[in-house]
Amino acid sequence: MGFVKGLKCRECAREYPIDPIYVCEFCFGPLEVVYDLEGIKGVLTRELIESRPQNLWRYKELLPLDKEPTVGLHSGFTPLVRADKLAKHLGMRELYIKDDTVTHPTLSFKDRVVAVALSKAKEFGFDTVACASTGNLAHSVSAHGAAAGLKRYIFIPATLEKSKIIASLAYEPNLIAVDGNYDDVNRLCSEVANKYNWAFVNINIRPFYAEGSKTQGYEILEQLGWKAPDAVVVPCASGSLLTKIWKSFKEAQEIGLISDLDTKVYSAQATGCSPIVAAIKANEDVIRPVKPNTVAKSLAIGNPADGFYAKQVVNNTGGDGEDASDAEIIDAIKLMARTEGIFAETAGGVTLASTIKLLESGKLDRDACTVLCITGNGLKTKEAIVGHTSEPHHIEPNMKSFEAVMDKLKKND
Ligand SMILES: *Cc1c(COP(=O)(O)O)cnc(C)c1O
Repeated sequence: MGFVKGLKCRECAREYPIDPIYVCEFCFGPLEVVYDLEGIKGVLTRELIESRPQNLWRYKELLPLDKEPTVGLHSGFTPLVRADKLAKHLGMRELYIKDDTVTHPTLSFKDRVVAVALSKAKEFGFDTVACASTGNLAHSVSAHGAAAGLKRYIFIPATLEKSKIIASLAYEPNLIAVDGNYDDVNRLCSEVANKYNWAFVNINIRPFYAEGSKTQGYEILEQLGWKAPDAVVVPCASGSLLTKIWKSFKEAQEIGLISDLDTKVYSAQATGCSPIVAAIKANEDVIRPVKPNTVAKSLAIGNPADGFYAKQVVNNTGGDGEDASDAEIIDAIKLMARTEGIFAETAGGVTLASTIKLLESGKLDRDACTVLCITGNGLKTKEAIVGHTSEPHHIEPNMKSFEAVMDKLKKND
């Protein structure tokens, strides 16, 4: 490999060597990984990528490791589903679901970022990993950290969904449930990170961690036949995924994997936590922190670290943003399930519900080839739809009882 040049401040462009650092010492801007794209061009061809195993490491030259990956070898390369039934329902011409609800070991897109973050943490020589999480990251670090033989300290808001807490505990990490919201947890973790020499995947390892999100973008391009879509709708928590999908498209164009790039990038958030979309709608550069109150807990970051950059991508690409209420989120989860057979978690409901509103307001063109990033599995947030589904038909174990139900069902047909 060896195509990583170093870290660079996104604000003042000051350069740093590869280290577990994340913020510029001079201007406090966030650091980002820089690659020798000229060198990668011609080496990483479509043919080489297509010859490799179907996981996210097929794009390894564009990921920030010095050695071969050691963690998350089965993450990535999730299906891109052509969603014709849903498209017809919405009056759209060409719609795809990038289905990160399946294939990944812990059933959310966080297995992408964790594969990269923990592989890098091992390269740096850490024996302990940690994270501040809205749920899916906790699950993923717990699992991949266990397999990698790393000690794990996982910090979550105590009010997370029970399913996600249990899912994390199954791997026996040290799980710390904090009385507070994600932003409180994150603040505490910054202090912990100063004292303990751990690899905090979304603090001191964040520049590397975030690069893992790009693999969702590369996969979309490859699965569309090395073409960029006209529009992509991305759920936003910190805003990192959205910025990295755009970075992946730009890099792919720069190294010649795709020729044309004219994609509008759209941000989707829950109304109960929509600091990025609010700034987009108000056309303000400042992202005003909010106190989250939404069923979409995986997206409940009130003070999004990459909010400003996410808004910039949306503006620069001619995209837009929408937010969805809890009721709209739940309706959208059910709509996706009954049209496409895909059961998404609340974040998926946010993405589809926001898309519907973008279509209704004309901000998103029904003729645009559109990809929805559906980032987590519905089994992880079952609580959200309890009471919002129909009830099973309860019968006795005999034909008479069954036929009585059939009569009722026939009448309703
Ligand atoms: C973490 C997460 C996101 C996006 O997070 P960013 O912080 O914006 O990168 C989207 N969907 C789900 C399900 C998540 O867990």
